[in-house]
Amino acid sequence: MSFIAPAHPSIATFRDLIGAPHRLAIIGHYNPDGDAMGSALGMGHALRAMGRTVDVLMPNTPPAFLQWMPGYPDVVCADRSRDRAEQLLREADVVLCLDFNRVDRVGPLAEQLSLVRCRVLIDHHQHPDIDVAVGFSDTGSSSTSQMVFDIIDALGQAGRIGPDAATCLYTGIMTDTGSFRFPATTPHTHRVAARLLEMGARPHEIHAAVMDENTMHRVKLLGFMLSERLTVHEDLGTAVIALSRQDLDRHHFHPGDTEGFVNYGLSIRGVRLSAFFMERGDRIKISLRSVGDLPVNELLAEHFDGGGHINAAGGQSLTDLRSTIDRFMQVLPTFLEAHPA
Ligand code: 5GP
Ligand code: MN
Repeated sequence: MSFIAPAHPSIATFRDLIGAPHRLAIIGHYNPDGDAMGSALGMGHALRAMGRTVDVLMPNTPPAFLQWMPGYPDVVCADRSRDRAEQLLREADVVLCLDFNRVDRVGPLAEQLSLVRCRVLIDHHQHPDIDVAVGFSDTGSSSTSQMVFDIIDALGQAGRIGPDAATCLYTGIMTDTGSFRFPATTPHTHRVAARLLEMGARPHEIHAAVMDENTMHRVKLLGFMLSERLTVHEDLGTAVIALSRQDLDRHHFHPGDTEGFVNYGLSIRGVRLSAFFMERGDRIKISLRSVGDLPVNELLAEHFDGGGHINAAGGQSLTDLRSTIDRFMQVLPTFLEAHPA
C-alpha cells in the first residue's frame, strides 16, 4: 500500500509553505493529460477553499475531452498566453509542479520554471530529477491526483474538497488508471475514489464527458489505424502503430484524438509491448505501453529522449517516421532479451 501519511516528513514543510502569505502557482506537464489537469485543478480548488489565491497554468492547451473540467476556463495555457504564464511564474513565491519530474517537461516554460525561487514536487513518475524545496514522489501511487488527495487529507483538510475538486481528482485517477484497471490500482485507490464520490464526484458523468464526446473523425481515425496502420510482430510480442501527417490530416486530426490508441496494441493476445508513432510538428511523438516487467521508460530514456513509467512512457525523435521506426526495431531485440517474459 502506498499513500502519504500525516507523518510524511514533507507534510509539515508543505503546510508551512501554503500557510504563509505566498503567491502560489500550479503547473502541469506539456500536452496535459487527465492526471496533469485533474491534479492541478483539484489542488487549485482545494487551496482556494483553504482561503488561498492560486493560479493554474499549463505549457499548452489540453485536448477537448478535458476542457469541460471545473476550473478549466481560468487555466493559463502558455500556447495562447505565453506572457501571462511567464509573468505568473516570475511573480510566484511557490510553484507546485504536478505530474512531472523534470523541468524540461514543461516545454516552453522550462527556463522560467528553473528560475522560480521555490518549487514543490508532487508526482508519481520514476527517477525525479528536479531541484525542489519540498518533494512528494510516490512511484507506487496510481496517479498524481491520488497523491493530491492524500496530501490534502494528511493536512487534515479533506473537508475542503468540494464537488469541483472531487470531480477533477476523480478524473485524474480514472484516466491514469485506465478506468481502474492498470496494476497501480490498489485498495487505497478505490478508497480514495469512494471518498471522492462522497464529496460530490459523479463517475457516470465524468466517464461520459471524457469517453463519449468523440468527434466522428476521431472514431474513423481509430478504425483506419486498426485496419491499415497496425502491425504485429508475433516473434517479438510487439505491436507497432504508425500514423503519418497525411493520415492525420485526412482524418481532421485535433490534439488528443490519438489518446489511448496505443493501448489497442496491448489488447492483442501475445503482445507485451505496444509502440505508437505519429508525426507531430517537427518531431515524431512516441508512446510505448507494456505489460509485466518490461520497463519501456528505460528504452525511451536511452534511445528517444523520453521517460515515464515502467509500463507507460513517451518520447520523441527528430528524424522522420520511417527512420524512427527502423531505429526502434533495431534496438528492440536487445531490449526484449534483457527483459525476458
Ligand atoms: P504518453 O505516451 O501518454 O504521452 O505518456 C505516457 C507517460 O510517459 C506519461 O506519464 C507521460 O507523463 C510520460 N511521458 C510522455 N512523454 C514523455 C517525454 O517526452 N519525456 C518523459 N520524461 N516522459 C514522458
Ligand atoms: Mn500521472
